[in-house]
Amino acid sequence: MFSLYNLVFYKRYTNCYITVSSWKILIIMKKLIKGLREFKTTYVSSHQQLFEQLSQGQKPRVLFITCSDSRVDPNLITQAQLGELFVIRNAGNIIPPYGATNGGEGATIEYAIQALGIRQIIVCGHSHCGAMKGLTKLHSLDEEMPLVHDWLKYTEATRLLAKEHYSHYKGEELLEIITAENVLTQIENLRTYPVIRSKLYQNQLYIYAWIYQIETGEVLAYDPETHSYVSPQSLLSYLPDDEIVLGYHSNGNGTKTSSDGQTTTESEEVVFDTYQGFPMTRLSKAQIERIYRGSATN
Ligand SMILES: [Zn+2]
Repeated sequence: MFSLYNLVFYKRYTNCYITVSSWKILIIMKKLIKGLREFKTTYVSSHQQLFEQLSQGQKPRVLFITCSDSRVDPNLITQAQLGELFVIRNAGNIIPPYGATNGGEGATIEYAIQALGIRQIIVCGHSHCGAMKGLTKLHSLDEEMPLVHDWLKYTEATRLLAKEHYSHYKGEELLEIITAENVLTQIENLRTYPVIRSKLYQNQLYIYAWIYQIETGEVLAYDPETHSYVSPQSLLSYLPDDEIVLGYHSNGNGTKTSSDGQTTTESEEVVFDTYQGFPMTRLSKAQIERIYRGSATN
């Protein structure tokens, strides 16, 4: 029940009386506060070791870039634990190109790569994206939501590409295409960051393009070989085996030995021999040879 005390408190800080609509808003807040209690008494108490570990520091392995949309939850859809994903969220999962703005996206990317040593990035768009809908009616946003209008400039390449190549598509179909192309545009934007470029050059970074389907809970991953989004399950065989990863074990003196006897130092990157087209940033040895001839070492 909403008590007299709450009402006085509410009036004191907002200088207005409660209307039916604000009553509903406060009920939602009540639900969230109850949720805080529930989280602490059930989840935290049953994962004490994890929280103890996390209090010592974070070591996320993946930078997950997605939309702010309330229907997309990176940890939920990947079933990742707390501490496993480093997340950037904004309207339309957009990354402004390097130097275009001094926003938080660039700083967060830099921190993820340089300070946290993250070597895998997922850019994840989703179906029914409001920001992508906005891109289809950009002219009307100018007055309605000028900040959104300006923000969507960072995906102008998507709008133009859709206009010039997919004008025969309309409605939901066009929206799907725009959403899928936007993820690829944002990966191109990501590549403009020096820190990303440098790691790609050294073959130490993997970037994945995903689309999350709200209605089915399914995720599709971009396959550059076929320029299409496919089930990531079909690409699992191109990713390293758990056993291969686990086969690299530390011998306690700062080096790791793989099952085939190769030894690397702890700080060295383990480069997996994956399918040429997936992850999409993986260059073949022939490509590296051709592009970086003279700089590649044996
Ligand atoms: Zn969205």
